[in-house]
Amino acid sequence: MRAMGEAVLARSVEHLATLGQQPSRGDMDVAALCRSLREGAPEAGSELAPLLDLLFRDLIPRSFTTPGAGYLAYIPGGGVYPAALADFIADTTNRYTGVWQAAPALVQLEANVLDWLRDWMQFPAGTAGLLTSGGSMATFNAILCARERHLGAELRAGTIYASDQAHHSVSKSAKLAGIFADRVRLIPVDGEFRMRLDALAAAIAEDRAAGRTPFLVVSSAGTTNTGAVDPLDAIADLCERERLWHHCDGAYGAFFHACPELRPLLAGLPRADSLTLDPHKGMFLPYGTGALLVRDGEALRAVHSATAGYLPQNQDEFYDPAQYGPELSRGFPGLRVWMALKIFGAARYRAAIAEKRSLAVWAAERVARIPGIVMDAQPQLSLFAFHLESPALATQAARNAATAELVERVTARGKVMITGCTVDGRYLARVCVLSFRTRMAEMETCVQHLAEEAARLIA
Ligand SMILES: *Cc1c(COP(=O)(O)O)cnc(C)c1O
Repeated sequence: MRAMGEAVLARSVEHLATLGQQPSRGDMDVAALCRSLREGAPEAGSELAPLLDLLFRDLIPRSFTTPGAGYLAYIPGGGVYPAALADFIADTTNRYTGVWQAAPALVQLEANVLDWLRDWMQFPAGTAGLLTSGGSMATFNAILCARERHLGAELRAGTIYASDQAHHSVSKSAKLAGIFADRVRLIPVDGEFRMRLDALAAAIAEDRAAGRTPFLVVSSAGTTNTGAVDPLDAIADLCERERLWHHCDGAYGAFFHACPELRPLLAGLPRADSLTLDPHKGMFLPYGTGALLVRDGEALRAVHSATAGYLPQNQDEFYDPAQYGPELSRGFPGLRVWMALKIFGAARYRAAIAEKRSLAVWAAERVARIPGIVMDAQPQLSLFAFHLESPALATQAARNAATAELVERVTARGKVMITGCTVDGRYLARVCVLSFRTRMAEMETCVQHLAEEAARLIA
């Protein structure tokens, strides 16, 4: 066991230590490799060493370098090392944290983590939480709460509202919750990609007039496309007036609320009935951890609480994951969050999150001055979006192609990776800063490579 563990540790640490020399995106021409990997289940076992060779030499490098400092694509996070150690402990000791009775003190650590998130987000006592595998599953559980609270068994009457910039996990989750696409209204946005209140109110009124039952508004605290923060306070007012559930998708942006000086950017966030967070983004954890907070904790419990003859009796004093979530047997997601936060402390987390916003603001100012680049979205949090324009790029299609080419050329240089998005037929390049490893050096490189490649493209 020790030899195997040390072999894995050596490879893992070497991998992290050399992240800076690895290209921001590996060789992605891998279809042939994927085909060559297809095989039946091995009848006989193997040594560990050749498996590690395969992984670290052949497979891991052929991917986006998501933990790298230059990863500015999609929504980064990075993956802090102590979380991996926590996973190792959780997996080797393999305690059962699905029900409180099987490991009460360990489950208490998970309860602590949920209380910490609750406090950071300024949700009240009485809030209940759930650690999930990601933001999508958090939103799914929120929709279940809203549905059960407002619709009972009348699912077909219920209608949901989100902006046309909302993450597609809203529509996917709605469907999983029995609310099909013909009952999901995607509300148009304003010039800064924020949900339009007038259009929201009109859509709700229209559904009421048609005899349907509006029950849920999903706001975005930072959209994935352009980082837009919906008018959370005004949406909370409207939901109060209309007696609707207000779920806020903070998978990208919620952790900025942990920094008191940044709270004005997310004004109204603590008023939501429920909130999606993604610790594998804003807390820099490795992939696999999302979180949900529900203001009225009883609503979450009502959805999931159950008993069975083979289980211990439910109890009320202590947090019990199976009473607040859909899973029974599960890993121990609380430990990786607990370990990371205990090791780094909340102050360092806040400083890192605030730094990512400063870096994005710094870079956006410089990118906006690059000839040919037009900003479409200033950083509301730590993400900005832009496109390429020049007299020669006369059509939308030409501007789209040139902007996509800019994204590709910058990424192909191997130092930073950026991605784009399509909004209303317009292709926008975007830069999102949210990895704990990203510092000023990567911002300087990003600005420089964007400037050089933009100059070539519009020449
Ligand atoms: C990432 C993201 C999601 C989905 O979260 P997963 O963890 O990928 O399931 C939802 N909404 C927003 C705004 C996101 O950025």
